[in-house]
Amino acid sequence: MTARIIDGKTIAVELRGRIAAEVARVLSTHKLVPGIAVVQVGDNPASSVYVRSKSKAVAEAGMRAFDHKLPDDVSEAELLTLIGTLNADPKVNGILVQLPLPPHIDAQRIIASIEADKDVDGFHPLNAGRHATGLPGLVPCTPLGCVLLAKSVLPSLAGLEAVVIGRSNIVGKPLLQLLLAENATVTVAHSKTRDLPGVCRRADLLIAAIGRPEMVRGDWIKPGATVIDVGINRVPGEGGKSRIVGDVAFAEAETVAGAITPVPGGVGPMTIACLLLNTLRAACAQNGLPVPLL
Ligand code: NAD
Repeated sequence: MTARIIDGKTIAVELRGRIAAEVARVLSTHKLVPGIAVVQVGDNPASSVYVRSKSKAVAEAGMRAFDHKLPDDVSEAELLTLIGTLNADPKVNGILVQLPLPPHIDAQRIIASIEADKDVDGFHPLNAGRHATGLPGLVPCTPLGCVLLAKSVLPSLAGLEAVVIGRSNIVGKPLLQLLLAENATVTVAHSKTRDLPGVCRRADLLIAAIGRPEMVRGDWIKPGATVIDVGINRVPGEGGKSRIVGDVAFAEAETVAGAITPVPGGVGPMTIACLLLNTLRAACAQNGLPVPLL
């Protein structure tokens, strides 16, 4: 068997097109331009790449990006003051603070200071609680992207055995809630799980969010399963250059799985598309408009 490749790039481009069309519609009917503030502290090269691509995608969707780049030694109090200003600004519908933050800043305190209805990353404890109790709220972008990719190849997730490897607040735990909401039977595996390969072999839908290069082998996968690989791992490549691989050994997995996301070009592009979706939804909710499903 050769797995169907779930082309995250193409699916993300289609979603971004639908978002841009909806942004144009709310502009013409309600004079509303959704805006997102992206706050970066320091000059971490990886963060700078992410922030640039987010701002570009925001502009392409017809939304406004307000970029705030702060020095590495900015105090927690100064950052909290900026967030207070953004919370109060009606042009800013979404606020994203690029993580990681320097060690002298308490990231949890910063996340909790963002107005929950502007928390387009979906990391605020109030949004996590809303999500866990089935209330409407903003959902973290990467897990949302994973579920959209799974649903692009599976007509329904209801009743499926889903196994998520990883229990982080930004990927694994929100995936548990999203998959439960889709009526899947969900197992969240982690570093202390016994017989991880055996647990994975039960999965009709396997989602790996570990951060370990190619840890999930082909013989961990149930034949025909759908595999979503969240991992982004830089490993040595040819000619002294590095390359990016996922958490799944792709060459082995694609001979067993029914469908699989590549790395790069799978989950990554969906994360940014879902950030745009969250910003549009936040802007509509804040202005009393129906929240688009898309
Ligand atoms: P994390 O380090 O916070 O969590 C990793 C999880 O993996 C932990 O819950 C841990 O229990 C589990 N784990 C670690 N070693 C394990 C082992 N040997 N066996 C079983 N489980 C193990 O990481 P994260 O923030 O959730 O990110 C996970 C991966 O996803 C990383 O590679 C990250 O770069 C990637 N990521 C990608 C995107 C994207 O947009 N594509 C977004 C976020 C994270």
